[in-house]
Amino acid sequence: MGTVLDFIVPAAYFIAAVMFIYGLKAMSSPVTARRGIIWSGVAMAVAVLVTFIHPKVEGNYTLMVVAIVLGGGAAWLSARRVAMTDMPQMIALYNGMGGGAAAAIAGVELLKLTSGAVTLDQVTLILAVLGGIIGAIAFSGSLIAFAKLQGWMKKSWRFTGQQALNAGVFIALLMMGGVLTFFEPTPEILALFFLTALVMGVLMTVPIGGADMPVVISLYNALTGLAVGFEGYVLQNPAMMIAGIVVGAAGSLLTQLMAKSMNRSLSNVLFAGFGKADEGSEGMAASGEMKAIDATDASIQLAYAEKVIIVPGYGLAVAQAQHKIWELTELLQARGVKVSFAIHPVAGRMPGHMNVLLAEAGVPYDLIYDLEDINAQFPTTDVALVIGANDVVNPAARKDTSSPIYGMPILDVDKAKNCIVIKRGQGTGFSGIENLLFFEDNTRMLYGDAQKVAQGLIAGIKSLG
Ligand code: NDP
Repeated sequence: MGTVLDFIVPAAYFIAAVMFIYGLKAMSSPVTARRGIIWSGVAMAVAVLVTFIHPKVEGNYTLMVVAIVLGGGAAWLSARRVAMTDMPQMIALYNGMGGGAAAAIAGVELLKLTSGAVTLDQVTLILAVLGGIIGAIAFSGSLIAFAKLQGWMKKSWRFTGQQALNAGVFIALLMMGGVLTFFEPTPEILALFFLTALVMGVLMTVPIGGADMPVVISLYNALTGLAVGFEGYVLQNPAMMIAGIVVGAAGSLLTQLMAKSMNRSLSNVLFAGFGKADEGSEGMAASGEMKAIDATDASIQLAYAEKVIIVPGYGLAVAQAQHKIWELTELLQARGVKVSFAIHPVAGRMPGHMNVLLAEAGVPYDLIYDLEDINAQFPTTDVALVIGANDVVNPAARKDTSSPIYGMPILDVDKAKNCIVIKRGQGTGFSGIENLLFFEDNTRMLYGDAQKVAQGLIAGIKSLG
């Protein structure tokens, strides 16, 4: 029996790992993303189920089933109920759970070591300690990111000497890691080590605010993957190793991509303190006033335009206006208007947020353009229709060196001949800063909930015959 299991268990883990890789690959395109999620889900189920027949797992079946029922049940319920706009918080939370689970594995293995129950070779020990540090930081850091996205923590917490304090805590953490690795560890040092790692995650995340959250979330995603990969080595579990490293690599690439789309280096995000809006530096004051337009006039402008670019943002997700916007687009196309969609990499609240919404409404992919592919088109565009986007179209990023978002690439909607902005009122975007676009001569504000306004525009265009 033992020999059969010795073959079946690693073979099943290997198959699960291959399915993870395939699933992740499929997730890279909206066309195959759904299939990718299913493959990865099945892989996860295989990896979990095969653990029940793992020769090393003895006697803990009740605990395992209870954990699976509780964890799986909570995830099932929350995933079914979560609003699309709250998805990023959920991702931050689940990221954190992954990091926490990896840290817990490290904790258990290191605790066994302190009691003399096991011995670990040097490489395994180093990876266990590193996985513990990274996992615990990703856990507490993700919880802070969750609180920020959920709006529970509005301020970015900064004070003089913060970086020195963070550096000090980090050095202390590394020293404790050194003691655990190279000297006789005690349970007290182990507890202090994990506590310090958790504090480090909090300290690292509290100063980060403004528009930087996407970078931070994907960084913690990458760290969680890495921690899981390291702990997979400690447990000699190939599925964990491969899945962890794949997530770590994908997360690192995404982090780089996100940082690039904010025109910032990762160290700048982590140590320079972006989004100083919370500290009172809100950039240049806008001059002039916002000029309103009603749905009837806006629909005339759109109907008689030759070229329209639609820029969706977080407000589109809040209003769930994607279907109406596609209906509006089809009406305009029927009148011979050339309509395209421009997507900023950090529009909305998670990577790919706008792509998902537009795909849900059936917008063909060939109408959707990334920032670098469409920005040159705005000067020859009759109407740029901004729907619930704010930070990603703020020209302060180009024009105002004192702005917290200065240097971030934006969609140049202000360069279009006319710009119509749909939003409910005068509220700011995620970074909390004033948008110079709203005061430009060629900008008109179309106030209201995006879905209702889109309905009004549809009615207006239909009435033109
Ligand atoms: P913003 O958050 O900057 O702005 C959204 C705008 O939508 C608000 O100004 C709001 O104005 C308007 N709005 C809200 N609800 C509605 C509604 N029902 N109908 C119409 N308008 C509405 O969004 P952007 O997409 O421009 O920018 C995304 C921001 O989020 C960036 O700062 C980015 O860094 C950050 N972020 C992005 C993440 C990602 O991975 N993509 C993750 C975390 C943060 P009003 O209240 O007046 O209606």
